[in-house]
Amino acid sequence: MAFHGSSRPTVCGNLFPGSELGHKYFCVNTTTGTTSTGGGAAIPQPHSNPASEVPSPAEMEPDRPIGYGAFGVVWSVTDPRDGRKVALKKMPNVFQNLVSCKRVFRELRMLCFFKHDNVLSALDILQPPQIDCFEEIYVITELMQSDLHKVIVSPQPLTTDHIKVFLYQILRGLKYLHSAGILHRDIKPGNLLVNSNCLLKICDFGLARVEEPDPSRHMTQEVVTQYYRAPEVLMGCQHYTSSIDVWSVGCIFAELLGRRILFQAQSPIQQLDLITDLLGTPPLSAMASACEGARAHILRGPHKPPSLSVLYMLSDGATHEAVHLLCRMLVFDPAKRISGSDALSHPYLDEGRLRYHTCMCKCCYSVPSGRVYTRDFEPPADRPFSHNYEQSMHSVWQGKELIHRFITEHQQGKRVPLCINPQSAAFKTFISAVRHT
Ligand SMILES: [Zn+2]
Repeated sequence: MAFHGSSRPTVCGNLFPGSELGHKYFCVNTTTGTTSTGGGAAIPQPHSNPASEVPSPAEMEPDRPIGYGAFGVVWSVTDPRDGRKVALKKMPNVFQNLVSCKRVFRELRMLCFFKHDNVLSALDILQPPQIDCFEEIYVITELMQSDLHKVIVSPQPLTTDHIKVFLYQILRGLKYLHSAGILHRDIKPGNLLVNSNCLLKICDFGLARVEEPDPSRHMTQEVVTQYYRAPEVLMGCQHYTSSIDVWSVGCIFAELLGRRILFQAQSPIQQLDLITDLLGTPPLSAMASACEGARAHILRGPHKPPSLSVLYMLSDGATHEAVHLLCRMLVFDPAKRISGSDALSHPYLDEGRLRYHTCMCKCCYSVPSGRVYTRDFEPPADRPFSHNYEQSMHSVWQGKELIHRFITEHQQGKRVPLCINPQSAAFKTFISAVRHT
């Protein structure tokens, strides 16, 4: 069940110097490609034991580039402190301008804030150099073996059990994010990492932001990969809520069932047309916040009846229960769309919940007499994510100081700090791969 080809030549070098730790080397695949090779992603097995108990195939693979995330390049490396395989991400173009500075700082703070098994978080941040030389930020996260996009396009079977346990975890992670007041804004299969025991984590917070409670405040339209973009965003709505993420999950749910993208259009207008082909022409009330041009486009066209029954043809897994939940997520009007939290109460997810908490989670445990379940299967965040710091960032230099201080304070009292050895052959290979992608 190999996820990645391992027959390619590798070079070795010391990326993480640290004489107090002895010589710790990691290997880097000399190929600069970012996708898996040699058979594609294996379908994770839902019945297997937790990954911590069984060495996974990736743990036996050499270090290599892996690709996920809209921003930045991710490599699989070995932490010299404990020999554990982890993912190393270089945050790109941090100090290019104030906007990128704020974006990266937000993502960094989010990665350090998250404490949830279905959301990727920072395990560590590499020690920055003196502030005058501080140009790049490297974050270490847990290493995952594949992502849902690779799983969906692979030829291997995807059972109803897989779909239920994946969907359960997506919604479980999403409930946590939304309860912290965070909109992900780019939920797509490639941003849902999975490993061999079916554990799923939402990643890539490069586009995430804090929910805007004031409906009069405009929000950017440059969100969400087009295929997963909610109709209100396609229609130029100036203010949107966490329901845009639920729409994306609905599209992914259909894609898991049908093994193909639900709304695969060439342009935003065609995207909207495909949506109305399925859902029918929306009532005027559902387009209340749309821009005039988009509303006119809908009203100019022929009146379309809904054709939701085609969802039953996605696959044998498209049962009445599955289609019922899907239809609650794919609602044109965001005010009437089901929330991530309410979707978790749908009976379709009962089996996924049971499976997850029986053999995959860290919140429940087994004793000789049986399984002891946690009190809250889908816990919310313990506090909202704060973004007040952004208001005090007025220049790139100030941003650099804030980020430098944040990383330094974050590391205090923790493990032996890691830093990059820029002279190592491994680092040179890494950095040239980063430049070419
Ligand atoms: Zn549990």
